[in-house]
Amino acid sequence: MFGKVIRDIVKVIASGQSFLLTSHLNPDGDSISCETAMALFLEQLGQKKYVIANRDGCPAIYRFLPRARKIIKAARVSGTFDVALILDASDIQRTGNIIDLKTQVKKVIVIDHHLSALPFGDYHYLDRESASCAEQIYNVVKAGAKKLTQSIATCLYTGIVTETNKFQEANTNPAALRTAALLVEAGVDPCELGRRIYEENSLPQLKLLGASLSGLQVSHQGQVATAVVPRQLLRKTGAKVEHTEGIIRFARSLKGVKVAALLRQQNDGFKVSLRSQDQVDVNAIAVKFGGGGHKRAAGFFLAGSLTKVKKEVLLKISKQLSK
Ligand code: 5GP
Ligand code: MN
Repeated sequence: MFGKVIRDIVKVIASGQSFLLTSHLNPDGDSISCETAMALFLEQLGQKKYVIANRDGCPAIYRFLPRARKIIKAARVSGTFDVALILDASDIQRTGNIIDLKTQVKKVIVIDHHLSALPFGDYHYLDRESASCAEQIYNVVKAGAKKLTQSIATCLYTGIVTETNKFQEANTNPAALRTAALLVEAGVDPCELGRRIYEENSLPQLKLLGASLSGLQVSHQGQVATAVVPRQLLRKTGAKVEHTEGIIRFARSLKGVKVAALLRQQNDGFKVSLRSQDQVDVNAIAVKFGGGGHKRAAGFFLAGSLTKVKKEVLLKISKQLSK
């Protein structure tokens, strides 16, 4: 179905001279997986001139991945590139406008799987059915690589396992499982990788989890759970923003909860994450606030006080619940 765009992407990559790789703000396992696998793929094609830059760098937990140490943290990249590869980001704002696509780049390749994505760039490989963007990178690598190396497989498996939350989210499908199996055949050790990603939490991270869950608020007859991470909680526990990842899953794990919200204080307001169980479409809520994501995992930013943000978010959630 995507054969042509994949072949075109491989051709553009093979003929370019310089590359910029980037992904979305607060990059997650899928973003880092796509960037590192793509960097290894570029090297296989003899392409050594690339920069990987994210506005928010790379979470410490993924720094063990091959080439992850090459990821730089930058608000804006300077210079020009033949090709920009925008991975797992549904629009250029989601990268934090790290680059001006009009003046700094000759060709723009976008590879993404977000429900809220709109077409942009010269080559747009958008597959909303794909559980992870990593699987799309897998398809590109397969179309052009000489060999699916253990290193590339390790990066890609990380994307699939984190984006499906260990193959238990609703996006888990036969394709994700099949690709994961092929990656294991290519040399991935699922147990070792799982341990590095999920069993090496830091004490500040666990303290943050504990503190934010102890303040969990349940409303709407037990259907909505809201957790808040005020700025001072990060200071108090010594945790970093990337350590807020995962809190929302615990909020959603409460029996009876259909929608979980995490409100993390940021700038003059709150970064809101939403996760749903069953059929509630949280992307529809996020889009109303100018954000986006997937049906069961979405986010947005909302300016204002905690009281105001919470009230507005809960109101939209309750409307969506009654649909
Ligand atoms: P998270 O809640 O983990 O930050 O994000 C969940 C999903 O929603 C991810 O797929 C992420 O890319 C997307 N997302 C989060 N925040 C935003 C936002 O502000 N705008 C858009 N378009 N998508 C977002
Ligand atoms: Mn992502």
